[in-house]
Amino acid sequence: MTASTVAPTSSDFKPFPQFIQEFKEQLKHLFHVRGDIDQLSIKRGIPPFMLREIMAENPLATYIPEQYGGRGGHIHEGLALAAAASYESLPLSLGFGINWALFLQPTGKYGQEQAKEAVFTDFLRNRKMGGLMITEPDFGSDALHMQSCYSQENEKYHIQGTKHWAGLTGWADYWLLTARHKNSDGSLKRDIDFFICNVSEPDQNIEVEEFYENLGVYMLPYGRNRIDVKVPAIQKLQPQSTGIKMMLDLLHRSRMQFPGMGMGFLQRMLDEAVNHCQQRQVGGKSLFNYDQVQQRISRLQSAYTICSAMCFNSSQKAGVENNLAALGLEANSVKTYVTDLMQSSAQSLLQLVGAKGYRLNHIAGRAIVDSRPFQIFEGSNDILYIQIAEAIQKQIQRTKQMNLLQFLQQHELTSRAAEQLKKLLNFNLKQPLTQRKLTEFGEIISRIIAMDLVLKLADSGFKKELINNAINNLYQDIAALVNGFNSSNSTGYIEEYEEGSSWFDCYKKSN
Ligand SMILES: Cc1cc2nc3c(=O)[nH]c(=O)nc-3n(C[C@H](O)[C@H](O)[C@H](O)COP(=O)(O)OP(=O)(O)OC[C@H]3O[C@@H](n4cnc5c(N)ncnc54)[C@H](O)[C@@H]3O)c2cc1C
Repeated sequence: MTASTVAPTSSDFKPFPQFIQEFKEQLKHLFHVRGDIDQLSIKRGIPPFMLREIMAENPLATYIPEQYGGRGGHIHEGLALAAAASYESLPLSLGFGINWALFLQPTGKYGQEQAKEAVFTDFLRNRKMGGLMITEPDFGSDALHMQSCYSQENEKYHIQGTKHWAGLTGWADYWLLTARHKNSDGSLKRDIDFFICNVSEPDQNIEVEEFYENLGVYMLPYGRNRIDVKVPAIQKLQPQSTGIKMMLDLLHRSRMQFPGMGMGFLQRMLDEAVNHCQQRQVGGKSLFNYDQVQQRISRLQSAYTICSAMCFNSSQKAGVENNLAALGLEANSVKTYVTDLMQSSAQSLLQLVGAKGYRLNHIAGRAIVDSRPFQIFEGSNDILYIQIAEAIQKQIQRTKQMNLLQFLQQHELTSRAAEQLKKLLNFNLKQPLTQRKLTEFGEIISRIIAMDLVLKLADSGFKKELINNAINNLYQDIAALVNGFNSSNSTGYIEEYEEGSSWFDCYKKSN
């Protein structure tokens, strides 16, 4: 990355609407005129000239507070930037999202003054990048039991451990490292602490032991890192209460910002589907005119509307001035559903495009592998759905309102949607629920919360026809999910399944 020597000040910036418009045009030019993204995307990394051009306008300044020379870190602008990037390239947008939610926001909110100033200046002047390392080979979903640890030595913290799958591995200049305090008897404290690591400083280099062959998001490097660094005491983040609560605030904010990455991507899926279907002739007529195709396109359009509602909502709520540690229900609902929409929209586009799309150098094929890990990272969707259900269950127990409809009619996240869903939700919730039923229940709740957000978006003057279609499609999805939820199934793995289960032997015996 090239270094521009003078850090910009906020007065140097173009007005945001102008910046974002020019940024979109620049990405289009870079990915479709100067380079061909379909060919570039099948190679790992990004050509240096492209990265240089993308970073030239200092996009990451959007995520930096004004008092440190940035554009102010406004959520709606951050989401718009992520959306502009994901229309052209989901991996690029993920790269922005990592810098934003997983490094700059937590550093700005919890970093010590001296460290913050240096980091932000370095980002603005020298186009630096940062990421977050939480996951370890033996502790992914179970991150709270991570084994990376630290001890204090004079004015430094000595951090040791192994981290993997951190986005921007080997590429980022700064990391937030997570570790548990090592007691004098060698045991680890329960809480988790965060440290800024500047890999270009002595004793802070992070060794990449192995680069992974990630299935998608080729632009971004992943791998396994050996951590053995000593960072100055001023680089420790300072939680307001516990480190775990700080981590929840950070992760929930990040999850509320996923719709920024989803927005451009979902719009691109829609535009690609419409363009393809309008041009493609099958059986003597345009694909666009088949009823089944219209259904798929309408669902892609609903995904666009739902994601818009989520962006609108997050713009109001996800600012760093708010502590989101307690907002798990909403943040998890947003993250799970928008990532499911991303994957299902990519699947739908590939279905419509047919064989031509089944290539890494076609947006449809690439979209499937690029969007898939969004359902896994920052909380596996399976687990988040369970957490959504458990959060609702707890509230139901507290209010003693066992009728689901009446409970949701009183809930601030669902009251408007519940009015539309009276026929579906008027039943008492049976307790306790098995884990699989919790997952199904979590899915239902996430869709109801999304419907509520769409209804709130309608008040802002958003196009009415889109709102109506989204509500209809959501209704149908919720009906199907409620139906599945109310039919019981406790099947599990059957031991020694190969004994007596050969269809071939059965055929021979009966013939
Ligand atoms: C592309 C990509 C980018 C990533 N970026 C980052 C990053 O920037 N920083 C970082 O620190 N990490 C990152 N990760 C790691 C990611 O956060 C972890 O993969 C994730 O937390 C899951 O951990 P795991 O892979 O070890 O899976 P596991 O913890 O082994 O879980 C695998 C699956 O098991 C099931 N499961 C697990 N626990 C339960 C349970 N209690 N109940 C029911 N089912 C369960 C779920 O289906 C889950 O998906 C990234 C991963 C990918 C693929």
